[in-house]
Amino acid sequence: MTDCIFCKIAAGEVPSQKVFEDDSVVAFRDLSPKAPQHVLIVPKKHIANVAQFQAEDKDLAAHIFVDVVPKLAKELKLDGGFRLVINTGDDGGQTVNHLHVHLLGGRKMTWPPG
Ligand code: 5GP
Ligand code: ZN
Repeated sequence: MTDCIFCKIAAGEVPSQKVFEDDSVVAFRDLSPKAPQHVLIVPKKHIANVAQFQAEDKDLAAHIFVDVVPKLAKELKLDGGFRLVINTGDDGGQTVNHLHVHLLGGRKMTWPPG
């Protein structure tokens, strides 16, 4: 999608601090980190949010959670734990309308979120 900031980051048209990239996924540091480690895991394909997942996205979704999350958690040394957040839609607090998984760690997380 031409006017989407995360599509532009995925395409390398907008700079970011990438920590992981393969054919289908890119992960980069959040511009405004909410924890000592705060990475956004983003499919390269433009999908607005999890409510817009299609059957054809099953492998991609599994890849993110089965392959990318554990790999990044290990590389970022989040052995004590971490939090995944997927804000979805207006009420969910989503501000960028391109699906992204927040990976947060490096401090004790509080619950519940606001
Ligand atoms: P959301 O609120 O949609 O769940 O999360 C969007 C996240 O993207 C926010 O944490 C925000 O700091 C981050 N963000 C927005 N624009 C950019 C950008 O241009 N570069 C990077 N690295 N992060 C961004
Ligand atoms: Zn996009």
